[in-house]
Amino acid sequence: MTTPRVLKTPDEVRWFERDLRRRGQRLALVPTMGFLHEGHLSLMREGRVRCDVVAATIFVNPAQFGPNEDLSRYPRDQEGDLTKCGQAGASVVYCPEPSTVYPPGYQTYVSVEQVSQGLCGGRRPGHFRGVATVVTKLLSLFRPDVALFGEKDYQQLQVIKALAKDLELGVEIVGLPTVREADGLAMSSRNVYLSAEDRARALSLSKGLFAMKAAAEGGEANVARLVALGLAPLTQAKVKVDYLEVRDADTLAPLTTVTSGRPARVLVAAFLGATRLIDNLALTVP
Ligand code: AMP
Repeated sequence: MTTPRVLKTPDEVRWFERDLRRRGQRLALVPTMGFLHEGHLSLMREGRVRCDVVAATIFVNPAQFGPNEDLSRYPRDQEGDLTKCGQAGASVVYCPEPSTVYPPGYQTYVSVEQVSQGLCGGRRPGHFRGVATVVTKLLSLFRPDVALFGEKDYQQLQVIKALAKDLELGVEIVGLPTVREADGLAMSSRNVYLSAEDRARALSLSKGLFAMKAAAEGGEANVARLVALGLAPLTQAKVKVDYLEVRDADTLAPLTTVTSGRPARVLVAAFLGATRLIDNLALTVP
């Protein structure tokens, strides 16, 4: 394992990218906010399978946090993250300062209209505008062949697919399955916030989703009944639900029935104390 090279400025990224092109190498990009876990590392490993070189980015993007959200306390561990990036096959890590990404006078933002609506877009106004802006900047700077994102943030993945297509960025957007803890909890940097008691209650999210998936596979297509099944473990664990909805897996249009042969997705967000967790799962009826 070699320790990855740390880049701090757009100029350093451009020099790196030009050098790579001169050598005819393919580049995979994995944007993250750091405090890395197996979910992030799975993206880097797959990047290494698909391309010659993997670049990761670690940037806690202020533009995607609301005024009352956890920007100031978002967990960080740059030293540990760099070691993990190296082990997962990333040879370069871009860690810009917020003032580098958004210097004084910064005024250009990217909004993806349809798939940003509702779900996290509805509950966190401006969130996907912040995500779309930083991802567009990173994709324009690195000009990767492939960029990898987790299905864990399913709506975000759809937003990024839309912007890459609409802005003709010429990058392949790859979505990879959610990596879970052994008991089913989706890995998240925010899980570190959870008390032991809340960690146990947090299991109700994946429990509800897997109950819905099993019911759909057993032939239950009625969304209201599926949602009731998914909510039961959350209610029992006294978890405050932000939303639990079934949507079309591609367009994210709301559904009242899951149709055979048309992929659907259930998406959930819930509060465990002050910590907001999200999860989602594919639903298919036979
Ligand atoms: P974040 O650092 O939370 O912004 O996440 C960076 C990337 O890692 C995003 O593409 C996420 O969707 C992805 N990611 C986060 N958690 C997981 C997970 N449990 N499994 C797979 N990918 C994940």
